[in-house]
Amino acid sequence: MKPHPNAHLLREGSLPHMFCPGCGCGQIMNYFLYAVQDLKLDMDKLVLIGGVGCNARIPVFIKADAIHGVHGRTLAWATGVKMANPELTVVVFTGDGDCGSIGGNHFIHAARRNLDVTVLAINNGTFGMTGGQAAPTTPLEARTSTSPLGNIEPPFDFCKLAEAAGATYVSRWTTAHTKTSIESMKKAIQHKGFAFIEMISQCPTYYGRYVLRVSETLDNLNWLRNSSVTLKKAGQMDEKELEGKIIVGEFVEKHLPTLEERYIELERKAGE
Ligand code: SF4
Repeated sequence: MKPHPNAHLLREGSLPHMFCPGCGCGQIMNYFLYAVQDLKLDMDKLVLIGGVGCNARIPVFIKADAIHGVHGRTLAWATGVKMANPELTVVVFTGDGDCGSIGGNHFIHAARRNLDVTVLAINNGTFGMTGGQAAPTTPLEARTSTSPLGNIEPPFDFCKLAEAAGATYVSRWTTAHTKTSIESMKKAIQHKGFAFIEMISQCPTYYGRYVLRVSETLDNLNWLRNSSVTLKKAGQMDEKELEGKIIVGEFVEKHLPTLEERYIELERKAGE
């Protein structure tokens, strides 16, 4: 088998990875490695932070400094790292459970402050690592291990939440969008400020089995492909047509002072 072109970016001792066959986490890690390679990032200045959940293991497999932290606190770690050394490139790998439930408060405040980090929020609509429970992004009426008769809680829209909280770059893609995901990751990493990408991903083991009721791993990916509509196309569709659709695209891109820049300015004023 031909070696992967970005295999040199992987931490040999940590492999093989622990993702189930067909899991979107592997694809997202792959897209991220392409983004890192294309940007020729200095690996000595790259810090990857993961919380708890299957996706949180991604930093463990990549040859950069990494923190595999506690549940929901990825953005607290990221704030500390970035404020201590603003020269570092900080990328957070977090899930819908990690970022949207227990870590929700850290998330909205990091966005409000415009902390200069990239957040890859991997949304598979369930708590995968712990057995497929309903998460804050699980669709209404979806059958999960904790909602066998259907989920009674409406999900929230991660991107709208990020935008309302103050994120200065916001986009959404699925694992079925290879090129745009890589390009968006490159843009987010280069963006000065809080860059948020929601990556809709497949969890064949739980979401596929319980919610989609499919057994073939490829059916999960096809479901993402067939359910997605671009922002432009969505603008021509009515509410009924958009039901159950995943709108993909870039929602926000603006430039405002970052928390680090404001802090450095404050230091300058204090020194006068
Ligand atoms: Fe991926 Fe789901 Fe398996 Fe976790 S449980 S590794 S999210 S397929």
